[in-house]
Amino acid sequence: MRLATVRGRAHVVTDPDPLRGVDVEQASGGRFSADIASLYPVWSDLVAWAGDIDDAQVVALDRASLGNPAPRPAQVFAVGLNYADHAAESNLATERTLVPPTFTKFPSSLSGPFSPLRLAGPTVDWEVELVAVIGRTATGVAVDEAWSSVAGLAVGQDFSERTVQSAGPAPQFSLGKSYPGFGPIGPWLVTPDELADPDDLLLTCAVNGEEVQKSRTSQMIWSVPELVSVLSGICTLHPGDVIFTGTPAGVGAARTPPRFLTPGDRIVSRVEGIGEIEQTCLAAD
Ligand code: ZN
Repeated sequence: MRLATVRGRAHVVTDPDPLRGVDVEQASGGRFSADIASLYPVWSDLVAWAGDIDDAQVVALDRASLGNPAPRPAQVFAVGLNYADHAAESNLATERTLVPPTFTKFPSSLSGPFSPLRLAGPTVDWEVELVAVIGRTATGVAVDEAWSSVAGLAVGQDFSERTVQSAGPAPQFSLGKSYPGFGPIGPWLVTPDELADPDDLLLTCAVNGEEVQKSRTSQMIWSVPELVSVLSGICTLHPGDVIFTGTPAGVGAARTPPRFLTPGDRIVSRVEGIGEIEQTCLAAD
């Protein structure tokens, strides 16, 4: 199942291209809400219902009206240095530590798949990431059962203002990654069963058509099930919670000379089997 927010209402996407789908609240006769955030607590019921959608209720949808499919998480986890090539380009340790380096993107930074990116400063950088959204309350989940706690996967960007990110006497990533629009997610949520191998997905990022990041999620130091297991071993995970799973090599700050985003730049982020999101940079206010 693919679940999207379209004009603020939950839709099951039946065809990605051309984009078609059904309005969840209307097609279910009110059994399920139009509010996508309220569907995560009833995720298994929704998935079962979606398997039985009547073709007559399918309508054409507009890509430009897609919104964030995970708009109100109780918690947003973001994992740093989860690809060895990115840790190496950042001159940081590439081996596993006791827990993954984890920060938050405050929920007010989240946005839709085609939201613009207002540049908050002169050193804003890109980080394409696979995003996992939680589908059930989870505590102490075992690695081999962790996929069942995941509602689905989406494409995300962990936009980062590097100067703010590295200010302060000790690492404090969260604020530099939490300006409005710094966490676009989309274009929709894809359930893991739709993917040939949800542990091995190609992900890429292009800036103005030039590919700047390319890796596979199989290269993650902590896989999605391992992240769900270790995070749920410390925090209770709630339906609708969001996990940004880390970025591979190729960010602007690690280049010589460093390269940062400027007004008019266009960032296209893709994950195999899910789709793409796109941001155009606007000048700071
Ligand atoms: Zn990141």
